[in-house]
Amino acid sequence: MPELLQDCLSRNLTAVHTRIELACRRAGREPESAKLVAVTKYAPMAAVQGLVQLGHRVLGESRPQQLLERSREISAIEWHLIGHLQRNKVRAILPQVALIHSVDSIRLLERLQEIAQSMGIRPRVLLEVNVSGEPTKDGFSPPALKAVWEDIVEFTDVDVCGLMTMAPFDENPEHARPYFRHLRQLRDDLQGVTPACKLGELSMGMSGDFEVAIEEGATLVRIGSLLFEGCGDFVP
Ligand SMILES: *Cc1c(COP(=O)(O)O)cnc(C)c1O
Repeated sequence: MPELLQDCLSRNLTAVHTRIELACRRAGREPESAKLVAVTKYAPMAAVQGLVQLGHRVLGESRPQQLLERSREISAIEWHLIGHLQRNKVRAILPQVALIHSVDSIRLLERLQEIAQSMGIRPRVLLEVNVSGEPTKDGFSPPALKAVWEDIVEFTDVDVCGLMTMAPFDENPEHARPYFRHLRQLRDDLQGVTPACKLGELSMGMSGDFEVAIEEGATLVRIGSLLFEGCGDFVP
């Protein structure tokens, strides 16, 4: 491990943790109540290993194939899948992931239920919501999710423990706030319909807008570029 890379990662990791803590305090929340998912999709293996050596334990990948390859090399940590999952990858991916953030259809949920039953496991997942309605984004629209919610809670072999969204890209993080607030409101509404089903997790906020997301209730922030910037030429 070249020392410069490790120093750079350490500085970035500390800075991100500090900003998460400050955002929690501003929002009157416990500093540990927002968890950092380090998104490693652009980072080379050396940098991922560097983060793990610094004690970081929760990593997110957006492509199932890359998650599978990397989880073979780096185990004993929590891998999260944050990108689209094809149904034919479910069987391979399930044993490797602690949380899937990106369940975006009933058909995928059906497949997860079927495979989970055959494996005797109960995977933790979040439902991805396309709050902004941008056609390029995956996820349930808020009205569609409300319409199928009572069917979703029947999938008892899958632990649906929260919601995930991405705000539209914008230089100004304040512009993301309504989308995050909407996701939280949607969670509260669904929770109201089925109080026994606990939707504790809100996965929202990336490098450009995570502080606003924490102020609006994020429990998981997915951060990539801020952790790796300046540590090599691999960040686009
Ligand atoms: C890439 C990615 C992130 C991290 O984005 P950064 O802006 O690099 O922090 C978060 N969430 C998802 C779903 C992503 O694909």
